[in-house]
Amino acid sequence: MVFRRVVVWQNKEILKRFPKYRGIIDGTQVARYLIAKTIECAYNSNDSVEDLEKLLKEKSLEFNELLEKDIEEIKNRKVSSNSYIHLAETLANKYLESCIFCERQCEVNRIDGKKGFCLISKDSYISSAFLHMGEEPVLIPSGTIFFQGCNFGCVFCQNYDISQAWKGKKNIEDIAQKVNTRELAVVAEKLVDRGAININYVGGDPIPNVHTIVGSLNFQQSNICQLWNSNFYLTNKSLSLIIDFIDFWLPDFKYGNNECGKKYSGIDNYFDFVARNHKRIHDEGSGEICIRHLVMPNHIECCSKPILDYVAKELPKAVMNIMGQFRPQFKAFNYEEINRRPTSEEMREVKMYAQKLGIIFEPVS
Ligand code: SF4
Repeated sequence: MVFRRVVVWQNKEILKRFPKYRGIIDGTQVARYLIAKTIECAYNSNDSVEDLEKLLKEKSLEFNELLEKDIEEIKNRKVSSNSYIHLAETLANKYLESCIFCERQCEVNRIDGKKGFCLISKDSYISSAFLHMGEEPVLIPSGTIFFQGCNFGCVFCQNYDISQAWKGKKNIEDIAQKVNTRELAVVAEKLVDRGAININYVGGDPIPNVHTIVGSLNFQQSNICQLWNSNFYLTNKSLSLIIDFIDFWLPDFKYGNNECGKKYSGIDNYFDFVARNHKRIHDEGSGEICIRHLVMPNHIECCSKPILDYVAKELPKAVMNIMGQFRPQFKAFNYEEINRRPTSEEMREVKMYAQKLGIIFEPVS
């Protein structure tokens, strides 16, 4: 793995597609959240959601104009005591009163302790945090923070112990550590001290914890890449809260249509929402993206190929990790068509199709 970690950065396509991320690792670029901290915001926490959303849009424009400036000018800017990140945190906490963080849009008041599908109230819980050496070679050592809870209900989940299996059986307090914004920042900074080259928010899924993650950026200080590792079923509004602060995106792209998303993850309009979000981070966000696609048995025509077609057409800057690790776990044994691993023929067919479309996947798969 050490060899792959070194070799991957000698690949010209990888350097071309991840220039800012590499620059942050080398100290020649500044992490986006540190830049956002220098943008002053004048607002009152009693302002309406509509007014805060309007201001967020204005600050996003200001942020993106700032990115065009000379790096030395950016480095010399002062941190604001009421910054773009404070604004995003304030708005995130307003959304918690009628939660719309993901497209399930449960609209429960999580501040009052109510819980939606993910069963996470206003508090965030982490099940573990460590230097992950099993991620893609461009990411390791990755400072990975696993959040308890998920907004999906995948029948084949490989992290089912922290995403779903505890629900209705165990108290979350007994199996995970509660963290507020300041405590999460301490966890992240410790990972930096131990050699992490990114802070990798995963789970379960980080989406139910947008408010805590954004708030923690007020306390983090290191020039470290912020990485979002998620099923990507965010709403447009919650994606707006993080789109400018994340340097590197690691989204899952599981299904090439809405029907398979409903059948295996219990969610509506999967492809429509997830494709929309991929397009947004590609066009409006950092654009430094590694898409994970887990090849499922008997799902080459309905899922793998439509996803590859979409990536080739709409997301040309992205690289892909085409993954062959699918194995029937959790409840997948109940679905005959996915009750096996993908065959080597299926994997070869998907990879040849990606090659034909000119998608870059070999260095990270
Ligand atoms: S994060 Fe999603 S699943 Fe959880 S309460 Fe909010 S809308 Fe519902």
